[in-house]
Amino acid sequence: MIEIKGLKKSFGKHDVLKGIDLTIQDKEVVVIIGPSGSGKSTILRCINYLEQPTAGEIIVDGISMSDAKSINNIRKEVGMVFQRFNLFPHMTVLQNIILSPMKTRGESKEEATKTAIQLLEKVGLADKKDAYPETLSGGQQQRVAIARALAMKPKFMLFDEPTSALDPEMVREVLDVIKDLAKDGMSMAIVTHEMGFAREVADRVLFIDEGKILEQGKPDDIFFHPKEERTKLFLSKIL
Ligand code: ADP
Ligand code: MG
Repeated sequence: MIEIKGLKKSFGKHDVLKGIDLTIQDKEVVVIIGPSGSGKSTILRCINYLEQPTAGEIIVDGISMSDAKSINNIRKEVGMVFQRFNLFPHMTVLQNIILSPMKTRGESKEEATKTAIQLLEKVGLADKKDAYPETLSGGQQQRVAIARALAMKPKFMLFDEPTSALDPEMVREVLDVIKDLAKDGMSMAIVTHEMGFAREVADRVLFIDEGKILEQGKPDDIFFHPKEERTKLFLSKIL
């Protein structure tokens, strides 16, 4: 459902992605690990066209990117959640969630509100719909950010280190929401260094190093029997 072929991305003279080939199947959960600066965020940002690839092709659900008109179509299919929650501070939780469905999906306020309340129930925050973001904990804000992304009814979700800006006691509540999505069959690519979580949800783990996929496989194979020296070195630092 997502096909990436020969993806390259350079910033000036800096070649950040050096040829990524990756197919992510329907309902597949792929966890991406790798050292800081190896290009993990850039891969996700290219899938969502927040960055323009320098070369290569990305096909999301049959839609290729060569056609500029399809950028918005692709963004409708792919939701993204970042390290920082990026909620609009001057809007309530509910307003944050219904904004895009009304603006870009043309949903009525009633329709968008109904969906938003269902999603808030799903992430355990139904009682916070009229709260402003600053009154919520980091974990709660991140769960709202997930609900907001889901309100666009994406077929695919991208998570870029969704728990790394959180206090430790809030990590689990966010990971549990993502785990529920995996159970519901959502296709996802998740950059995370939460190994226990990766073992629970990932169908496949990719190790990215210096802009390339160095190694990939089932979580336990990558975490406990890595083949590449650089994977071993990386894991020895984070486990
Ligand atoms: P990771 O997420 O694995 O830590 P990134 O994909 O964020 O790595 O970044 C990979 C490299 O690309 C880093 O060296 C980073 O400095 C560089 N980079 C990322 N975004 C930009 C940008 N917009 N302009 C210039 N360099 C960038
Ligand atoms: Mg990153």
